[in-house]
Amino acid sequence: MRREGDSGRRRMPVRLLLLFGLSACSTAPVGAEPSPLITKSNRPKSATQSLLGTALSGDIRTIDIHLDLATRHASARYAVDLPATDRPVVELEVRGVDVKRVYSTTSGETIPSSTFKVGKHEVLRIDAQLGANDFAIDYDFSDDAHNGTERGWSVSRQNTLLWPDGCSALFPCHSDPNDGAEMKLEVVNPPAGMQLIYPAHIPADSPSYMLAFAYGNMSQFDAGHTRSGTHLSGFVYTHEGAPLDYAEHLEQLRREFEWLEDTIGPYIFGNDVASLVMPNGYGGMEHHPYWYVESIQADTHEAAHGWFGNGVREACWEDLVVSEGFAEYLSIRAPRALADKHDGYDAFLSSGRGPRPRPGKNGAWLPKTCNNEDAYATFNNVYSQGSGFLMELATRYGERAFDQLLSDFYLAHAGGAVRMQEFIDFAQARTTVDIRALAEKWLL
Ligand SMILES: [Zn+2]
Repeated sequence: MRREGDSGRRRMPVRLLLLFGLSACSTAPVGAEPSPLITKSNRPKSATQSLLGTALSGDIRTIDIHLDLATRHASARYAVDLPATDRPVVELEVRGVDVKRVYSTTSGETIPSSTFKVGKHEVLRIDAQLGANDFAIDYDFSDDAHNGTERGWSVSRQNTLLWPDGCSALFPCHSDPNDGAEMKLEVVNPPAGMQLIYPAHIPADSPSYMLAFAYGNMSQFDAGHTRSGTHLSGFVYTHEGAPLDYAEHLEQLRREFEWLEDTIGPYIFGNDVASLVMPNGYGGMEHHPYWYVESIQADTHEAAHGWFGNGVREACWEDLVVSEGFAEYLSIRAPRALADKHDGYDAFLSSGRGPRPRPGKNGAWLPKTCNNEDAYATFNNVYSQGSGFLMELATRYGERAFDQLLSDFYLAHAGGAVRMQEFIDFAQARTTVDIRALAEKWLL
C-alpha cells in the first residue's frame, strides 16, 4: 500500500494532509536523491477491527475461489491443516459473506458448522479432524458499498480492497497476516462488455489481503520481460488513456523489477506481473502479482512489496514496518542502484527533507505484542521511520553490502512471515553497527 500525495487520480473520499512538502518523485532524474512521500493517515473511519487477541483454529494451506459477479454467489474450496495441538475445528472469519453450506469435497456431505461473534467479527466454526482437512463452502457475497465501507468488492470502484483485514467481505478467511495461503481465483460474469483482470493463481503463501480482481474497459501496455523471464504489463482505463511518458515509465519499472529479482531474490508470485492504474482506496495496493496504483509514482513501492510485505510478510500487525518500511526503502534504493549510486543517504537524512528520527516517539514498531493492535497502530509512522531506519543502516553498513544482507534475509524467509525483531537479530549478527540502538532511534 502506498500513501500517496498525488490526488490527481483519486476517486475515493479520503483526506490527505501533507506533513511536509513533496517530492519530485515522478519528475526527478533516475537515481536522484530519495524523496519519500510523507502523508498523514487516510485511515477509513469505518475500518474494521482485527480479531485482536483471538487466535482462530487451523492453518490454511490453499484456497480456491469461484465468484459469479452476476448472481453474487461463490464457492470456495479449502485445504486446512490442524496441528495436533489444535482443537478439532476450523474457524474462519465470515463477516460480510452469507454462508449457505459447508460440505466435504470428497463425499459431498454437509459438514456441521456454527457461527459465533468476536466483537464486530463473525466466525464460522466447522467440525474437522486433526491433520489435513479438505472442504468447500458455498456462500453469497455483496457490493461493499451497501454498508459504506471500503472492504470487499466495490461495484462503483470496479475492483476489490481487502487490506488490512477485510478478506471476509469476499471469502471465508484468516485476516491474521501470519497465516499465508496459496490462492486460486476464478471470476465470471462481469458487467457487459467489461474485461476482468486478475491473477488466476497466486502460487506462494501470501496474506489474505493480496487477493483482488478488477474489471473495466482497459488497455494493456506490454513492457517486455526481465532477465529472469518475468513478463510486465501496464493496464490503464481505455477512456483515460496512458499517463504521460508511460512507455518510458514502464521500461524503468521493468528495470527496477529486474534489479529486485537479480539483487534481492527470485519473485515468488508467478512470471506474469502487472500494474493496474485505477482507484484502490489507498493510492496504491500490493495485490501481487497484479498491483494497483492511482498514480504511477507508486509503482516501484508496490512492486517492492513483492519482496517485503508479501514475499516476506509481517507476522503481526505490530510489525507493519516489515512491509511498508522495507517497500519504501526499496522503492528508493532500486532507482539509485540502477543509476549506480551507492554512497549512502547521509546528505539526504541531514538535509531536513527526509525522515527524521524521533527517539521514544517514533511509533513505528510495537515489539512487545502480536495482533493486540491493528494495522493502523503504526500506520502513520512506518513509511517514514521505517525507510529512515533502513537508509541510515544502509549508509553505515554500505549500500551495496546492505543489498546483500536484505537478499540473505529475503531468501531465508520468502513465502513466510517474520517479526521485525527477527530482521534486527539477523542483521545484528552480521555487522558491528549497533542495530538495536538504530532501531530505538528510528522505530520505538
Ligand atoms: Zn505499501
